Amino acid sequence: MHELGILSSMLKTLDKIMVEEKLTHIETIVLQVGEISGIVPEFIEECFPAATYKTKYENMKLEMEVIPGIVRCNDCGEEFNARECDLKCPKCGKSNLFPLSGRDFMIKEIHGY
Ligand SMILES: [Zn+2]
Repeated sequence: MHELGILSSMLKTLDKIMVEEKLTHIETIVLQVGEISGIVPEFIEECFPAATYKTKYENMKLEMEVIPGIVRCNDCGEEFNARECDLKCPKCGKSNLFPLSGRDFMIKEIHGY
């Protein structure tokens, strides 16, 4: 489970944003998690209390949006919703795939003051 490490580097990013935006408190953070980013939203939720425990983010609310994993087959042009990492095209069975969306994990919004 690498989600704890991902969260702790995300909190470091938040530190920087707070300085840049001159925020003293963050109430809510909205994350975007792609279905094929390799990050599991449930694990993020599970790790969140541990990652923020006794930090200034302890009472921060976490919201997540899951972005569908859309890939295109380079061989036949089929576009489909992908959930697994080792994929094959449902139409031609090849795995020459190009990801169109759903690969990213990012901070979408921060609500604070
Ligand atoms: Zn195909």
